[in-house]
Amino acid sequence: MKKHIAVIGAGLSGITIASIIKEKFKVEVFEKSRGVGGRMSTRKELPFIFDHGAQFFKIESNDFKNFVAELIAQQIICPWKLKLAYFEGDNLKKIKMIQKKHKFYVGVPSMDSIVKYMSKDLCVNLNTKIERIIKKGDKWYIYDQNKKRHGHYDWIIISLPAEQSLELIAKTICFHSLIKKIKMVGCISLMVGLNKSLNLDFDAALIKNKDIAWLALNNSKPHRKKNTCLLINSSYEYAKKNSNSSKIKVQKHLLNETRNLINSNLSDAELLKVHQWKYVEAKNHPAEDYFIDRDQKIGVCGDWFINSRVEGAFLSAKKLSNEIL
Ligand SMILES: Cc1cc2nc3c(=O)[nH]c(=O)nc-3n(C[C@H](O)[C@H](O)[C@H](O)COP(=O)(O)OP(=O)(O)OC[C@H]3O[C@@H](n4cnc5c(N)ncnc54)[C@H](O)[C@@H]3O)c2cc1C
Repeated sequence: MKKHIAVIGAGLSGITIASIIKEKFKVEVFEKSRGVGGRMSTRKELPFIFDHGAQFFKIESNDFKNFVAELIAQQIICPWKLKLAYFEGDNLKKIKMIQKKHKFYVGVPSMDSIVKYMSKDLCVNLNTKIERIIKKGDKWYIYDQNKKRHGHYDWIIISLPAEQSLELIAKTICFHSLIKKIKMVGCISLMVGLNKSLNLDFDAALIKNKDIAWLALNNSKPHRKKNTCLLINSSYEYAKKNSNSSKIKVQKHLLNETRNLINSNLSDAELLKVHQWKYVEAKNHPAEDYFIDRDQKIGVCGDWFINSRVEGAFLSAKKLSNEIL
């Protein structure tokens, strides 16, 4: 009989490990949100659509290259040819065409298409937040937000940001103290939908020394609808200082910061939405690429082990799956 494994989290790392080990094990995935994708997600406020988590990704390692080859062939992943502007404060320093050597890739028609495609043959329980995991004898049981018990399982895999993983992991697990050392930083996203073109000389911008760090015209990505969808991400410092500020205050400030860069007052925006991300990037990374407690039969993977990037999420999950297999 196949051994039974529960994977907690349906972001790229959870879905990667689930899809690799499913040939050999019976796998069940648990996800607190109403869809898969985690931080590679897409917000649909029709007719406006924003990839408000991961903006793009690079493909550097051979493992990741081999993995994405099929998705590129299926046109689930495409390169994003863009004009990238670099600002220091309000001053435009240069605009660079990104298309050849250091290509940026995105999901098509939206960033969440990648994890959706990968999860289509998996058993994923959505709207199921796991609040407790308990070992009885040699089996694991897990409890959701409604105190419903799931299980039993031979192994548990956790694929959540470090601080969320820690909430589930008991002190008796050998890597508990190592996870405790990892701290993550967040940002605030402002989504602006407009019924006119902004006529910018660039598609996205990296900004230093301001309260905004990134902006992108989502509609400049391949196979998107034409509607102008401007995504603005705050700096980590601004997000930290304003984690308790009202959405209206944050919205007003991020709009002000953007106006000077794009020469538009954005006063005719049709849609304005603020989203707070608690976990974007780890300030420090563990020495390992994943954690495993072989005696207790529990493993943890995620982007924060490697580089807090899409490729890192994949690599951490792939390496843990080799060990589980
Ligand atoms: C604003 C932003 C911008 C980014 N930009 C880029 C970029 O440009 N390029 C790049 O490479 N990377 C970028 N990243 C990082 C990238 O999104 C992540 O590296 C990657 O998506 C992490 O995948 P993961 O599976 O490890 O974690 P996650 O995607 O966080 O997956 C964890 C999943 O677990 C779920 N979950 C949490 N708690 C529970 C629970 N108790 N029970 C059940 N489910 C739970 C969550 O809902 C989520 O779906 C960005 C991230 C953010 C937030």
